[in-house]
Amino acid sequence: MDTLLEANAINTGYGQLQVLWDTEIFVGESERVVLLGANGAGKTTLLKCLMGLLPIWSGSIKFAGNQIEKKRTDERFQSGISYMSEMGVITGLTVEENLLIGGYYLPKSTQKQQLEKMYEQFPDLKQKRRNAGGSLSGGQRKMLGVAKALMSLPKLLVMDEPSAGLSPLFVKEVIDFLVKSTEQSSLSLLIAEQNVKFLEIADRVYVLDGGRITFAGTVLELVADDAVKRAYFGLDGA
Ligand code: ATP
Repeated sequence: MDTLLEANAINTGYGQLQVLWDTEIFVGESERVVLLGANGAGKTTLLKCLMGLLPIWSGSIKFAGNQIEKKRTDERFQSGISYMSEMGVITGLTVEENLLIGGYYLPKSTQKQQLEKMYEQFPDLKQKRRNAGGSLSGGQRKMLGVAKALMSLPKLLVMDEPSAGLSPLFVKEVIDFLVKSTEQSSLSLLIAEQNVKFLEIADRVYVLDGGRITFAGTVLELVADDAVKRAYFGLDGA
């Protein structure tokens, strides 16, 4: 498996406050990676560094063979990394306007094709295409967030807590359509979550604690790791 994204020895923070300490992660092509961590562990901070939304103090980031740590966010986006923040959707714009923003850099004809593809994949969105993003239910809003992020035909989709604010039923829906979205493509996923339900679709897992990676391995290895289980997730080994 070829490595698509590689972040090495990332140190960063806000002002005097250091949040990430020598953080290292990688994502392979077609791989689904979950970054688990409690509130305040530094997940959002790491994703922001990957996207160029927060400068790194030291370290390096490589994507599809190129060093990107000095690239602007729009350049990273155009090179194939798409980002779904916790907000995900612009509530004052319609569903279709949101989708078109997601495909902003595509040639017009590809943009149209992608729009049709998203409507095929998410028929609910087609029905609501003239409605404001803010009028959608929590689950539909997430769906729009994912569709918007997929519009740009990314190689890697980076998601910040897609489960935030969703009921367990909607979480299942989000997981199902993420599986559907990745099944017929080579799309890689990096999902920052505190919800262990997302482990169901993970090829590999990182645990981030206090800004440090404290576990890296497969889900089976995570489940076998009693210390990780007890310390962070209260899992009982079932
Ligand atoms: P959450 O699930 O709550 O979003 P997280 O794992 O994404 O948690 P971060 O948002 O990356 O964690 O926050 C990590 C640390 O950095 C926390 O201590 C937080 O208070 C701090 N922090 C985050 N954003 C800022 C900021 N803009 N200025 C100062 N400190 C910040």
